[in-house]
Amino acid sequence: MSEKINCGKCGMLLYFGEQISRRLYMRAIPDEAAVLAAYNNVCPRCGAALSEDTVKIEIKRRVIHGAQ
Ligand SMILES: [Zn+2]
Repeated sequence: MSEKINCGKCGMLLYFGEQISRRLYMRAIPDEAAVLAAYNNVCPRCGAALSEDTVKIEIKRRVIHGAQ
């Protein structure tokens, strides 16, 4: 699984890589928030405030041929 986080306003790529948390049942623990905190919760390009509600978080499964 890979994860991508973009600014919800200008689309600036903030994070791309392995999924931050595979423990979806523990979503109350804001792992993405740690990424946003690295930007001081402000988009370095457009200055928009970053929060888990304003950024676009995309989680993609790896395509496994022949699965299912
Ligand atoms: Zn932005």
